[in-house]
Amino acid sequence: MQHNWKPIISQLKSAGKILLTTHVNPDGDGIGSEIAMYHFLLKMNIISEIINSSAFPEEYAFLDPEKVIQQYIPERDFERLKEFDLIFIFDVGGITRTGILGDDLARLEIPSICIDHHPENHIVCDYKVVDDKAPSTTCLVYELIKEIGTEYIDKQIAEAVYVGLMTDTGSFRFENANKYAFRVASELLEYDIKPNDIFKHVYESYSRQRMALLGTVLQTVHYENDEKLAWFTISRDDLKRAGVQLDEIGGYTDFIRSIKGVEVSVMFLEIDLNKIRVSFRSKGKVVVNQIARKFGGGGHFYAAGLTVENTLEKVTLMVLPEARKAIEQIKQ
Ligand code: AMP
Ligand code: MN
Ligand code: MN
Repeated sequence: MQHNWKPIISQLKSAGKILLTTHVNPDGDGIGSEIAMYHFLLKMNIISEIINSSAFPEEYAFLDPEKVIQQYIPERDFERLKEFDLIFIFDVGGITRTGILGDDLARLEIPSICIDHHPENHIVCDYKVVDDKAPSTTCLVYELIKEIGTEYIDKQIAEAVYVGLMTDTGSFRFENANKYAFRVASELLEYDIKPNDIFKHVYESYSRQRMALLGTVLQTVHYENDEKLAWFTISRDDLKRAGVQLDEIGGYTDFIRSIKGVEVSVMFLEIDLNKIRVSFRSKGKVVVNQIARKFGGGGHFYAAGLTVENTLEKVTLMVLPEARKAIEQIKQ
């Protein structure tokens, strides 16, 4: 896959200080992209900082032993944003996904570059490389770094790229686990990364509380449409009772999709008082980003989401009819 990186390369080479950011509730792909880019820029003697709207899940902390990732605090950081003369936005397809940092950056006129792999990208910026054939945003970042020089790639950068690739392909299981994904993975192995160690960091470091809550959730899944639709809710009270943090919930929806016969799984997670995050996962017969888009969300064909302000019950009543309708339209 070849993209035109020239304008981006010339912008980054002439930048004084670069801001790197990703979407709210960052995942392995957003964090991996930032970390890979940060360490690459450091090697090029280009100063950058990683600042995100939200905190990131503990399972990715191993990628950042130096703790360079910062969380944006408007009162403290807004004035400082003016020091940056270039912004990189990774793995974000929609403006609603950039959070408070995105809102504040929109008030300043700093040149920006977006690197992403969502099928629809609505980010307004000065330059974009968006490719929905790329299994992860980190693959695009890797391509950009290679374009400048493979000598810059080291184990830490390769590990960060691999984390984005592994998490966005569901450990090379999802339909985006294409030839490109395996080729990049095999190239990354040349840098002495250890896939099994990385897997253990990300997927075998869950708290007992998180797994116990998953057990409870499994008892409460609602099955509809000949069990093709599986949905469940998690309230703030559920989280509190279980002693589980919000950022530990990633992966539940994927897990429920793995049940035989289930085509679409949907999670309704109360992230704040009357603020619900909805996550969709599909096995491939139903395009779920179309459902999410009806409510202002978006995402990939088979992994999508949205956030709405209303009660858990009202949001289920609002969203589920669309999910049922989409499932009824599956061609036999
Ligand atoms: P999640 O279920 O939160 O892991 O999200 C799955 C995918 O859906 C993400 O990778 C995003 O591409 C997309 N997504 C999630 N939430 C939103 C949202 N509020 N707006 C647009 N896209 C979203
Ligand atoms: Mn992401
Ligand atoms: Mn991604």
